Amino acid sequence: MVIEAPGNPRHAAVPVSRATLGTPEASRVRPRPAPPPRQGEDRGELAWATVDLGAIAANTRWLASRAAPAGLMAVVKANGFGHGLVPVATTALGAGATWLGVARLGEGLALRTAGLTAPILAWLPDPAWLGPAIRAAIDVSASSTDDLERIAAASSRQCRPQVHLKLDTGLHRAGATADAWPSVVDAAAHLERRGRIHVRGVWSHLSHGDVLGDPQNAGQQAALTEGVEVARAHGLAPELTHLANTGGVQQLGAAGCSMARVGAGLYGIDPLAGEAGGERLRAAMTLSTRVIGVRQVAAGEGVGYGHAWRAPRQTRLALVPLGYADGIPRSAGGRAQILVAGTRVPVVGRVSMDQAVLDVGDLRVRQDDPVTVFSDGSDGAPTLLDWAAWAGTIPHEILTGIGPRVVRHLVGDAR
Ligand SMILES: *Cc1c(COP(=O)(O)O)cnc(C)c1O
Repeated sequence: MVIEAPGNPRHAAVPVSRATLGTPEASRVRPRPAPPPRQGEDRGELAWATVDLGAIAANTRWLASRAAPAGLMAVVKANGFGHGLVPVATTALGAGATWLGVARLGEGLALRTAGLTAPILAWLPDPAWLGPAIRAAIDVSASSTDDLERIAAASSRQCRPQVHLKLDTGLHRAGATADAWPSVVDAAAHLERRGRIHVRGVWSHLSHGDVLGDPQNAGQQAALTEGVEVARAHGLAPELTHLANTGGVQQLGAAGCSMARVGAGLYGIDPLAGEAGGERLRAAMTLSTRVIGVRQVAAGEGVGYGHAWRAPRQTRLALVPLGYADGIPRSAGGRAQILVAGTRVPVVGRVSMDQAVLDVGDLRVRQDDPVTVFSDGSDGAPTLLDWAAWAGTIPHEILTGIGPRVVRHLVGDAR
């Protein structure tokens, strides 16, 4: 399917492995993973993220089994949490996901442009993309009668928008409030009877999916069930209901719904930190770079902007070409560690936009040596969780912050 879209949705332009998906033409075909880099093979790149599609497939299968018999929507927003929109979507669909979920309509259009025909839901409103998205058979979300009117205005005889009505069951971010819900479902039923829209789903989002046993989850599940009953009483017959995210699926399955929407878990993030079987999830990304220079400094020399760090002794410093524009959090400077020559060494001084400095002491480190920023930890490198702790954030923010200068290499068996 080729979509006429005004301009290029941003995520269509994020580079992935040159070997597989580097050109727009190539991104229309089913991605084939590049062969894993052979021992000692050097592609000469400054920084690369190795994305293990086998891990994403295994994570999808496990999450799908937790959600079963309900379906599984693979949430691939924000460039598949930084792993690559189309490769993640294709892999998840091949491993048991039944739907794709994105935040923005443009992300959905990028999936259609790449040739994916699976059902897609995009939940943020975006007037500029509404018409093209509806013509591209992307389902949209409505939280209010205003949303419904805009969506209905974009419908045509050939193309009836598929709508998922969102109920606010407690997150208080989007969704109709309980008070407004009867008027929203009434307006939707009216538009549906006139053939202007079809209400395919009713949905909501958990505020405490990542907190084991929190009573808020059961409360939101009950509120959604009640909301669906109100919708049915107004003459709607939604085929789909969905509430649970990754943490929700881990502890509640699909939470009484016909589908669950999972993002984090696909990529190996366990929001429940091992409290509900999440140790089965495998980290999908390894971030690597190389040393681009080595120098010696005398005791007392200041290093980097503001001399935020001074060498406590004569030492050797290795420079790596990754900075905060590439997703190395500036706030992790002075705390973080990186694996070089099989040893963890500290990141010293301020992380700058494009570069960071490592104190390698007496280690035998030379220009071009490979450096592992994070991995699944099996090689001794820091993990994503380590980086999240050093930066005072969650792994999601580290992953989605990996910038477009980092080449993505796809490896592993996507089945
Ligand atoms: C991001 C998102 C998800 C996925 O949540 P995870 O916790 O990453 O599984 C599901 N639903 C909505 C509405 C989201 O914005």
